[in-house]
Amino acid sequence: MKRIISVFCLAFLFITTYTSCAPAAARYQYADTAMGTIMQFNLYAGSEDSANAFAETATDMLTQLEEELLSWRLETSEIYRINAVAGSGQATALSEKMVSILTECLDMWEASEGAFDITLGELTRLWQIDAVAAGEVEKGTYRVPSAEEIANALSHCGSDKLNMDSTGATIVVLADMQLDLGAVGKGVALDEISILLSNYPDITGAVISAGGSVLVYGTKPDSSSWNVGIVNPFDTSATIGTLTLEGSGWFVTTSGDYERYVEVDGVRYHHILDPATGYPVQNNVRAVTVLTKKGQTGDMLSTACYVLGVEEGMKLASKYNAEILFVLSDGSVKMSQGMEQYFHSNE
Ligand code: AMP
Ligand code: MG
Repeated sequence: MKRIISVFCLAFLFITTYTSCAPAAARYQYADTAMGTIMQFNLYAGSEDSANAFAETATDMLTQLEEELLSWRLETSEIYRINAVAGSGQATALSEKMVSILTECLDMWEASEGAFDITLGELTRLWQIDAVAAGEVEKGTYRVPSAEEIANALSHCGSDKLNMDSTGATIVVLADMQLDLGAVGKGVALDEISILLSNYPDITGAVISAGGSVLVYGTKPDSSSWNVGIVNPFDTSATIGTLTLEGSGWFVTTSGDYERYVEVDGVRYHHILDPATGYPVQNNVRAVTVLTKKGQTGDMLSTACYVLGVEEGMKLASKYNAEILFVLSDGSVKMSQGMEQYFHSNE
């Protein structure tokens, strides 16, 4: 028996599905837009009340994360406040959470030799990445930035110009530039959701997806493995295969050139930028998926490894004990040895 109830809640679409798949925990599904992406919660819970309570709390928490910490557009956020005084010499006080997020981003900047860089805000705005994703750029009106504009924006980038004092919990941005945490937001959100889930003992299993990032948590009622599909970049309505995962607390994060892009005169301008050139990365990579035990690490790595390509990307992933899989532009798949035990191709 299957019952589907649809409820409109505060402009969000909450879809609740009940399936009597096991006596202990039933499955409830919710879909929502938050942080500029589609969030999907698949929860195995002992009661509909606890599933609803979790979904509402998680949605509020994501909104708060965006409003108070991560958004570069909202005046209420820490990132906005940091950006507003960049280059003035003025220090901005940071919350404990922001210190932790930024410390990890700076470590990744160093480890990736600059391929991952949260100071690309001038460039991401010039390329109108968020505006395109939000549908704010009318079809046919997109203008590719000039080489001069790109060089100018690039001169306002570089994590070497960030001066963070983690003891005093302040940051001084030494140059006139803009931070953009677009490459870590979803990972940070999934880390927070994972912590929140542990406060809901009635929710015994969950698959949470935020755009290209997925968290699997707990166990299924029938104790079977979790299967996470990997999108086929050549046909995004299909998958190339699945990752079969046992146990709890896995983060599967993908960065791909199909996620946010515009096409002008047959050229695809996508959202992952090469900090060395200021242009969308042009190598033989179409998508990168990483498997980690922490969301932020996975999110940073998928972006960094996209920029670095197979050889250097594999090395970086192994430094973080992550497994990695690349889909290349000739359709071939390259993966770390450890990934082979999880990946099952559709072919
Ligand atoms: P993701 O989808 O996680 O790979 O993140 C891509 C987003 O991060 C883009 O939309 C930009 O906002 C930002 N970004 C683009 N290129 C980089 C880069 N090389 N390093 C860090 N952030 C980037
Ligand atoms: Mg990322």
